[in-house]
Amino acid sequence: PIRTRYAPSPTGHLHIGGARTALFSYLWARKNGGSFVVRIEDTDVERNVEDAEAKQMDGLKWLGLDWDESVDIGGPYAPYRSMDRMDIYREYIDRLSEEGLAYPCYCTSEELEADRERQLAEGVAPRYSGRCRHLTAEEREALEAQGRNPSIRFKAPGGRTVTVQDEVRGEVHFDTDGIGDFIIARPDGRPTYNFAVTVDDALMEITHVLRAEEHLSNTPRQILIYEALGFDAPKFGHVSLILNPDGKKMSKRDESILQFIDQYKDLGYLPEALINFLVLLGWAPEGEEAEREIFSREELVQSFSLHRMSKAPAVFDTVKLRWMNNHYIKESSLERIVDLALPHLIRAGRVSPDLSDEAKSWVTRLVSLYREQLDYVAQIVDLTEMFFREDVRYAEAAKEVLRQEQVPQVMKAFIGQIEQADDFSPDTVKTLLKAVQKETGYKGKQLFMPVRAAVTGEVHGPDLKETISLLGRDTVAGRLNHLLK
Ligand code: GLU
Repeated sequence: PIRTRYAPSPTGHLHIGGARTALFSYLWARKNGGSFVVRIEDTDVERNVEDAEAKQMDGLKWLGLDWDESVDIGGPYAPYRSMDRMDIYREYIDRLSEEGLAYPCYCTSEELEADRERQLAEGVAPRYSGRCRHLTAEEREALEAQGRNPSIRFKAPGGRTVTVQDEVRGEVHFDTDGIGDFIIARPDGRPTYNFAVTVDDALMEITHVLRAEEHLSNTPRQILIYEALGFDAPKFGHVSLILNPDGKKMSKRDESILQFIDQYKDLGYLPEALINFLVLLGWAPEGEEAEREIFSREELVQSFSLHRMSKAPAVFDTVKLRWMNNHYIKESSLERIVDLALPHLIRAGRVSPDLSDEAKSWVTRLVSLYREQLDYVAQIVDLTEMFFREDVRYAEAAKEVLRQEQVPQVMKAFIGQIEQADDFSPDTVKTLLKAVQKETGYKGKQLFMPVRAAVTGEVHGPDLKETISLLGRDTVAGRLNHLLK
């Protein structure tokens, strides 16, 4: 059976890159009726951030990437948090040491830094000098007597080529001479990433490791560990970089895009839009579907394939993401969009947190009127600003329209109609405007443009009778009167 995993280090919120890796792993497991594991790699304790594990899991949950085994629900290969697996790592580290495939290293960071500088000065790529590789038992004892606490280094075989059969990039070759003996356990016994990930992927019987390209250079080290421990290596796939919209490599400080999934959630992006968008960063559908953009999760589970993954970097196209989100907002139920819009309107002070039924139905109509325009739900606040202002801000184009000669006559007639009306439903508003038309003889643009400009301050906008109805009789009359003064 196919087993994939997403193995975040709990160092922060779920990043778009991590979410994409998780998505690919999830889809590959689901497509094959396999299992998707979420494992927490927390041995780099200095970098761990409180809450990050929960934040990662929340992000995945929100995206709908449900897992079969993890820290919260357990599973046959528990525990799923590295720091809870220390005994397991110790056993394998000891085994490598006993077999002479790993050794204690007593070098201090000053010594290592001095080596590094010398090597750089000599123009050679820095790697471990091998100083502690051949220490005799007496030499070790002497160093321990000085109170030195060793790391454990893996003996990297020299003069060999390690080949990664990458599912995305094809064969990638690494010369082991460039690797050098690397640390697999710190002085306090905590394994390094390369060691923990290998033991965990092996023992958890992971069949496919899909992860970011930045890990490709770690993979030969991991393959050497698989060999030394007598484990079969899984298949690896290193997914392409994500570039920012300028085509530059994304950095953590890059402000050209939002980088974390919860930022998108907070703005009112829909999870299905993000899933759809992220999957196309590095994967493309096949054959007749090659140009297709919109895929439901079920369709992705059907269509996803490793051989359609691209090794070319993927550009994060914000415009496309917005377009996709707008698509899903339009597809979604109105009720859901209202629920997402309400917190934004409340926070902006537009509606009260304890909403009456009447107010709720007003908000529902408002959201319905603007839904088509929303790239993300938070935009509702700015888009509907004119509903909540005392005084209208008139755009230049609106001022222009309001200078037309028929305007005072139209306004007066409209005010007269409004005063006589029994209610202010959209249908009534339509009837009122008809009556204004009859009374003044103006119709079409000559009638509707000034009315829209007068009550909204704009010359374009959504359905006029619904807009006027939602503004309400008092507001509309007030705005018209104000203009006539
Ligand atoms: N903990 C690693 C990270 O967050 C995972 C790398 C891997 O998938 O092997 O980058």
